[in-house]
Amino acid sequence: MAKAISSEVGTGSREDNASRQQAGAPFRSDRSGQGSSEILRLEKVCKAYNVGQPNETEVLHDIDLELGHGEFLALMGPSGSGKSTLLNIVGLLDRPTSGRLLIKGQDTAALGDAEITHLRGHTIGFVFQYHLLISAFTARENVMMPMLVDRGFPNAEIEARANRLLAQIGLEKFADNLANNMSGGQQQRVAVARALAMNPDLVLADEPTGNLDTHSADAVFALMRQVNRDSGTSFLLVTHNIELARRCDRIIEVIDGRIRA
Ligand code: ADP
Ligand code: MG
Repeated sequence: MAKAISSEVGTGSREDNASRQQAGAPFRSDRSGQGSSEILRLEKVCKAYNVGQPNETEVLHDIDLELGHGEFLALMGPSGSGKSTLLNIVGLLDRPTSGRLLIKGQDTAALGDAEITHLRGHTIGFVFQYHLLISAFTARENVMMPMLVDRGFPNAEIEARANRLLAQIGLEKFADNLANNMSGGQQQRVAVARALAMNPDLVLADEPTGNLDTHSADAVFALMRQVNRDSGTSFLLVTHNIELARRCDRIIEVIDGRIRA
């Protein structure tokens, strides 16, 4: 399914992008016409670890979940309740033991490894608690990385696009800084820019503000919310911070591997 998107963080032409940027509409894109009413649907998803071994344990039980296009959902729950396991499944990093996972209406069970890799790379962006930037690379190089790996963008576009993303998160002056030499909050904003590099439909953020001070946590959250509002990118945010969760469209809670009704 082709994405009907043109945006300066998307695949639009440079001219389009420049005119949009001048119009002061960072992150704006048109995500209409994508063919399914939700970006994500889980039906009775279960996940067990160590299947077939004496220590087999099911950690997710019959998860039903839908996420609409452009929705910003907070996922809360105690440590060990299965939030990261759920995000790994939604992010196509792991497969459910049973149940169905549909992304943009497409049942992922039918997809082979190459198709899964392509879908993950082009549809989903990741932000983790420990930013996982490459510390010896500059901010710009970190943002360029997903595009270099994908090779879907012309080389000449990649650096310009990384620069635009850094400008949009207000860190253009830090483009040449090594990730190592930036504050935790700045690094996490760079990680958000990197997650947006491929213009994903959905960003999965696993406790992205968990080790930040209140001010930096707020800045990272505000950035994600702005991207969500401007571009219609959907977000699934795992957080322990009730103040931030309340600023999301909806909160769901995972307790012992089940969604609390
Ligand atoms: P949360 O992110 O909510 O803290 P996790 O999804 O990380 O929870 O973990 C849910 C449960 O699954 C925990 O009991 C954890 O120990 C277990 N678990 C997570 N990953 C694995 C794994 N790779 N192998 C076995 N058990 C795991
Ligand atoms: Mg976790």
